[in-house]
Amino acid sequence: MSTLPPCPACNSEYTYEDGTQLVCPECAHEWSATASEAAGDDAKVIKDSVGNVLQDGDTITVIKDLKVKGSSLVVKVGTKVKGIRLVNGDHDIDCKIDGIGAMKLKSEFVRKV
Ligand SMILES: [Zn+2]
Repeated sequence: MSTLPPCPACNSEYTYEDGTQLVCPECAHEWSATASEAAGDDAKVIKDSVGNVLQDGDTITVIKDLKVKGSSLVVKVGTKVKGIRLVNGDHDIDCKIDGIGAMKLKSEFVRKV
């Protein structure tokens, strides 16, 4: 029980879990336990094509020609991209490429420099 947070209303340490809710037996305050779990999503690890862990601000190169959706532009293999930003979603890298502009890439098609 020591892993549960104290009651935010009265600071009681006797918090207990009731489903997804946390309940304080002393003042009957109830609150959601899911807030702390949602924060864990930010810790999702994004890796490049060879398993290097990527971080915001990293420089990567593209390992295959990638068509830019909705245009005739192609991001050529070997294109270097500086200052990537990791995002949630199918395309998990947000970046800006010289001559093309802002776009999203899949981490499986890049390699950390
Ligand atoms: Zn309480």
